[in-house]
Amino acid sequence: MAIKAGIILTENRLVMIDDLIETDGKLVEKLEVDTSLVLKKRPSHCPNCHADRISGIEVMGGYDGILLWECDMCEDLFLRFKEERTEEFLQSAKGVWTNPRDWGYVPSYKFN
Ligand SMILES: [Zn+2]
Repeated sequence: MAIKAGIILTENRLVMIDDLIETDGKLVEKLEVDTSLVLKKRPSHCPNCHADRISGIEVMGGYDGILLWECDMCEDLFLRFKEERTEEFLQSAKGVWTNPRDWGYVPSYKFN
């Protein structure tokens, strides 16, 4: 992972929801995040290990933009939205990832 050294600190990643978690039941719980901590903006340091490399995580089909933060060092995840909204976004991602032909196309009505 030495290749990461010295690169941009604000890298974003786009992932499939099934790369993150199993998709049965309540999804937020499976992220094992601290749901009392909601970080609307990218934190300058990881609340857990204080590293300064935080990636924004976009979940395909879940939300058009960053849905979660992930520390590059300890790999802890942090919520960008409250637990209930995050759950809604994750649930809608769940409906999308099963159809690969929909990937890469976001209907304009989803932008708002
Ligand atoms: Zn960390």
